[in-house]
Amino acid sequence: MTDRILIVEDEREIAEILTLYVENAGFAVARATSYQEAVRQHAQFAPDLVLLDIGLPGGDGLDVLSSVRRRVDTPVIMVTAVDDEVTKLSSLRIGADDYVVKPFNPSEVVERIRAVLRRTRGGRLRRLFAAGPVEIDLDARTASCGPAENRQRLPLTPSEFGILAHLAAHPRRAFSRAELLEAISPDSDAYDRVVDSHVSNLRQKLMMAGCPDIIEPVRGIGYRLWAER
Ligand code: CA
Repeated sequence: MTDRILIVEDEREIAEILTLYVENAGFAVARATSYQEAVRQHAQFAPDLVLLDIGLPGGDGLDVLSSVRRRVDTPVIMVTAVDDEVTKLSSLRIGADDYVVKPFNPSEVVERIRAVLRRTRGGRLRRLFAAGPVEIDLDARTASCGPAENRQRLPLTPSEFGILAHLAAHPRRAFSRAELLEAISPDSDAYDRVVDSHVSNLRQKLMMAGCPDIIEPVRGIGYRLWAER
């Protein structure tokens, strides 16, 4: 399984050099150049690690770090232009896993990425879990359902997968549309009704795979995954 690295850096040259080294080291890379893009890419690309520049347009790297930490514990390496103790301490306090000062040697950054991934592997998120007849693999971003001997892979869009994974992580808990929307696309301006259309398609796909009524509407609230088995 190829590890996915999100590089958040607004200086194009630095981003390109980092991408080159990180890709050559065998990782898959996505890039973001602003606060908004970083938060969106973090939700959509679901990286295994984020390389995060502190000076960004639209809100700084520490804001991105806080936003990521509110939801999951993806490892984060902060990158900064100034070797300043205050910034370093606040990054570590908010939950950064390591800290690199510019100008850096890109090979060393790759080594740090490897070291942080080794260190954080395992004890973090539960990457593969089942809720009733539904099985979620967060690494492969796939979901399947049905009895063990005839489990079917569900052909889901990234948003549908995000909603299903979020519901399945807390079976029987009712989530509001706003919570589900936040889970699949934080800081989005989309209407809550967008969630209804994703859920409707999701339920259709679950039904086709032989798992009807797994997701049920909760009147006045939103949805829950009903996994009583
Ligand atoms: Ca910058």
